[in-house]
Amino acid sequence: MFKFGFEKVSMKKIGFIFSIVLLLTFQLNAQTAESQLQLFIDDGVALMNQRSYAKANEKFQVVINQLKPLPSRIAFYFGKNSYFLGEYKQSINWLSKYIQLKGTSAPFYDEAKQYLSLSEKSYLEQNKSELSEIEEDLNSDFECYSQDKMVCPACKGTGVLITKGVLQNRYETCPFSGGDGYLSCTEYNLFLKGKLKPADEIE
Ligand SMILES: [Zn+2]
Repeated sequence: MFKFGFEKVSMKKIGFIFSIVLLLTFQLNAQTAESQLQLFIDDGVALMNQRSYAKANEKFQVVINQLKPLPSRIAFYFGKNSYFLGEYKQSINWLSKYIQLKGTSAPFYDEAKQYLSLSEKSYLEQNKSELSEIEEDLNSDFECYSQDKMVCPACKGTGVLITKGVLQNRYETCPFSGGDGYLSCTEYNLFLKGKLKPADEIE
């Protein structure tokens, strides 16, 4: 009887202790995870200050994906680091978010403003230069790669143009390259742009 009762009590006790241990473990784990993520922010900032922007980015990404709610300073750090990575649009988004959240009294307000305008400027320049690169491609001459003679595209180097007729084909000397079937690089580029005049049109 007594033995039975003791066992019953001790089972209850064990159960109680077990659930407390379990609860503490959970809380401890949650705290550890959170403080670990807080440490990730500090690590990221240190890496950013050492100009290891890609590594800093990895740390910040982990924090952004896992820490809820996000501390506002991560928006500043991530936005600033994005500027150094050349991710200007991302930088603009996060720095604007930080300024919106924290206002002018934010601890990093001045720096956030500074990097926001740098990112905006770079973003505009980047888009402008991409546009002008495309324009340059369209206007640029074909490289003849130091070949001084290019095969004439009209007669394919034969020097003869063949016009298919109903009864018989008509053969004529190529009006672009003459009989030799080659063009100079300048002529070749004019031809590609449709600006090379056939010989019979030249007065
Ligand atoms: Zn030709």
